[in-house]
Amino acid sequence: MNENPHARAQHLLAESAVEGLGKADEAWLREHLAGCVDCAREAVTATELLHALRSAPVSVPRDLAARTQLRVRLRAHEVSKAASGSLLLWLVTAASWLLGVFSAPLVWKVFSWMGSIVGVPKLVLEVGFVLWWTVPALVAVAVVLQQRALNAGAKGI
Ligand SMILES: [Zn+2]
Repeated sequence: MNENPHARAQHLLAESAVEGLGKADEAWLREHLAGCVDCAREAVTATELLHALRSAPVSVPRDLAARTQLRVRLRAHEVSKAASGSLLLWLVTAASWLLGVFSAPLVWKVFSWMGSIVGVPKLVLEVGFVLWWTVPALVAVAVVLQQRALNAGAKGI
């Protein structure tokens, strides 16, 4: 290493303040500081500056920790409420789909029975049957969109 020994000493001084030095570097620095007045003065100044910085009082509001804990608890409560709300929505949606699948043959029989009694055209029966399937899904989509809008509104406050 062809580095200027004074520059190396400054570099090692900075490094020792941050992360410490290896034994070889520390020995080299100690030896250099013993023989170099300028670098020794820099080292003393840096040490005093660091000491002054570390002892400077940092003012933090006394209730900062309590306020932070309260904020974290409120946020956790909000998140758990939202999660349980969406879980409920998923359960209701799944139940709706299962009910729709298992009741489809029965519903079709009811529709065709009503069609034969009332004399409703087959097209109207088919449209009614399709609506039987799509209306719950559309309601679920509307609920999800409304919930998102409410959550977005709550975050905006
Ligand atoms: Zn030096």
